[in-house]
Amino acid sequence: ASERLYLGMDFGTSGARYALIDKQRTIHAEGKREYPNYMKEDSLDWALSWKTTLFSLLEDVPVHLRPLVSSISLDGTSATTLIIDSKIGEPLVRPYLYNESCPDALLLVKSIAPINHTVCSGSSTLCKLVSWWNNDDSDKKSTMLLHQADWLLWLLHGQLGVSDYNNALKVGYDPEADSYPDWLLSQPYAQLLPTVKAPGTSIGHLKGDIRTQFGFSEDCIVCTGTTDSIAAFLAARATKPGKAVTSLGSTLAIKLLSTTRIEDARYGVYSHRLDDKWLVGGASNTGGAVLKENFSDEQLEKLSEHINPMEASPLDYYPLKSVGERFPVANLKMEPRLHPRPESDVEYLHGILESIARIEAKAYMLLKDLGATQVNEVFTAGGGAKNDKWTKIRERVLGLPVSRATQTEAAYGAALLALKGFQ
Ligand code: ADP
Repeated sequence: ASERLYLGMDFGTSGARYALIDKQRTIHAEGKREYPNYMKEDSLDWALSWKTTLFSLLEDVPVHLRPLVSSISLDGTSATTLIIDSKIGEPLVRPYLYNESCPDALLLVKSIAPINHTVCSGSSTLCKLVSWWNNDDSDKKSTMLLHQADWLLWLLHGQLGVSDYNNALKVGYDPEADSYPDWLLSQPYAQLLPTVKAPGTSIGHLKGDIRTQFGFSEDCIVCTGTTDSIAAFLAARATKPGKAVTSLGSTLAIKLLSTTRIEDARYGVYSHRLDDKWLVGGASNTGGAVLKENFSDEQLEKLSEHINPMEASPLDYYPLKSVGERFPVANLKMEPRLHPRPESDVEYLHGILESIARIEAKAYMLLKDLGATQVNEVFTAGGGAKNDKWTKIRERVLGLPVSRATQTEAAYGAALLALKGFQ
């Protein structure tokens, strides 16, 4: 059994997972860890918590499989940002989390970036960098910016200052030109920006001390990673243009593989690069959150059994948890519409599921109108994926084959990047 294996790790919002696959993409082992709550000066020490979790996951990889691991990659939450002391590689200040906003930097960023650029949002990596640059008066000579995934990968390979073009999008990297734009390079803090490679590119060997401590093989390499939501898309193996993944969680998010890049800030639509293709995405505020407000998971299952998915529901709702929609309709004042409510809960649920399906259809239509490759097959992830009646309703409304994605774990997507980097 000299079979080679590929290790992927996912550092998500609530915990971390690993997946170990072979060349045929079959899973040999997987596992999960919660983040420990380390404190530092009255707040959570996230960097230490992630670092500890990284090594816990390596320990969780079965001992007899470790010598077979040829390549490692991992993903982190998008726009989670660390300012690093480049002499020692350790964070200078506490990490900026993915959802943290730095509104103080927004005006400045808007004044240098092109109009409607992805960095023009308070939670973008660039706003975090500019906010730190302007508010911290320490010596900034040997400092460097890294994303969560970059820093955790650095702990494994030891070459400081490497990122990937998925993580670097929100700091302003131009994935089409494959460089930082001039408006960014001309800023004084440009010296902090990491080098950027394609996700799943070999960076170097796993550090010797880690290799010997855990018993990994001598030729084990470490590859650039990606963001958690892109890793989850990769997991679904929607590898051809026109294949898409709809995520039916608390909200509805769609991602479509396209040969063309599209951007439209009005709808919050933008494209990530994936080699020679584009991963186009948009997120609606409709989704499972409204279902959860009205029904328990058990009720959803029971009531769904009585729905005839071949019959179109005449109820025309716009299920929202609160006021405002961005995609596929840009209207921040849109009111939730869930009336009239029929006496039958089955009919009510049918109406909600059908209405969300219509919004999904409209979403794919909008991407096409904006110039993306036309969708031809949809895989489903999230809590709604297990509802077969909903899947049938969506097939009818979308007029497309719809199925549940076999794999949806981001860690599996990261393992695919490790495999890619080894080949
Ligand atoms: P999150 O975005 O919070 O991670 P999940 O992917 O875990 O969400 O999905 C949770 C959502 O799935 C809930 O809003 C719940 O109402 C919905 N859900 C759970 N079971 C079903 C079902 N059988 N049919 C439709 N929706 C479901």
